[in-house]
Amino acid sequence: TPLEHLHAHGFTDRDLKCLKEAGYTTVEAVAYASSRLLQQVKGISEQKVAKLKEAVKGLVHMGFSSATEINLMRQQIVKLTTGCAGFDAILGGGIETGMLTEVFGEFRSGKTQVCHTLAVTSQLPVEQGGAEGRVAWIDSEGTFRPERITKIAERFGLDAEQVLENIAHARAYNVEHQTELLVQAASMMVEARFALLIVDSVTALYRSEYQGRGQLADRQGHLCQFLRKLQRMADEFGIAVVYTNQVVATVDPMAVFRGGEDKKPIGGHIMAHASQTRLYLKKGKGQNRVAKIYDSPSMPDNIDAKFAITENGVSD
Ligand code: ADP
Ligand code: MG
Repeated sequence: TPLEHLHAHGFTDRDLKCLKEAGYTTVEAVAYASSRLLQQVKGISEQKVAKLKEAVKGLVHMGFSSATEINLMRQQIVKLTTGCAGFDAILGGGIETGMLTEVFGEFRSGKTQVCHTLAVTSQLPVEQGGAEGRVAWIDSEGTFRPERITKIAERFGLDAEQVLENIAHARAYNVEHQTELLVQAASMMVEARFALLIVDSVTALYRSEYQGRGQLADRQGHLCQFLRKLQRMADEFGIAVVYTNQVVATVDPMAVFRGGEDKKPIGGHIMAHASQTRLYLKKGKGQNRVAKIYDSPSMPDNIDAKFAITENGVSD
């Protein structure tokens, strides 16, 4: 819902400008933010925050709903195909819009290839496993390759030029910049229909900027804020958010209870709680890969699917 709806509640163009500059670009963004956060917006007084909170109540549903209604809404969630039927099956149909999905795994396990494929499939019509929307791509590792997109678009019978045009890509150079890019992405999402936001990788810059035990608390605090912003965008724009993450070796003796995994994703509990679905990618021979559900609210853990990385993206 555009902020302009607030005019009817006595808010001026100047008020809306202050909100937009602080990254609150829709009525939903205001509704989902706490009063404490809104009070930090330059030019918005404490009284105005109270008035704002009152106004958005009537515009955004934020109370209880019956489970029947929730069920209906869940049936309307669009799911993006990964390009591999088995992979989609373990996800219960595909990558869910409105949700945060984490893809983690070792170097070359296929994380970035999964992102490339989704950047194309999200543009397909809904009947074909897409959401007919644009894509924003925040790239902290410099591994986005338009030529891969072209190949995958051809496979799905889409006009490659149009598909490229619909992907907005930005290199992220530091944690602060990566966070600023979210504000820019949000303003693009107000203007046009987006289906997917990719952050590849979400943690790389955190790892390089915050080193050592002493900085761990700061790192986790900032990462938590960043992930909350992603969730806010998923709620606000109904987009699927997909981010990649690295793994580290673990010496955890409890690992045997997790199927003998000797690697775990970084980011600790902060990351574990933020992601609605966590996917673990593992290398097999040649093009073969395995995707495993690590953590899902609706699918059993530890089910896996084989997929392949081909010249045309992720496939059976
Ligand atoms: P990461 O998990 O590190 O992001 P990637 O998604 O970049 O890994 O996957 C890298 C793998 O993708 C390479 O090992 C290679 O096997 C495969 N790959 C990359 N490009 C192609 C291509 N054009 N055709 C087939 N396989 C490819
Ligand atoms: Mg990668």
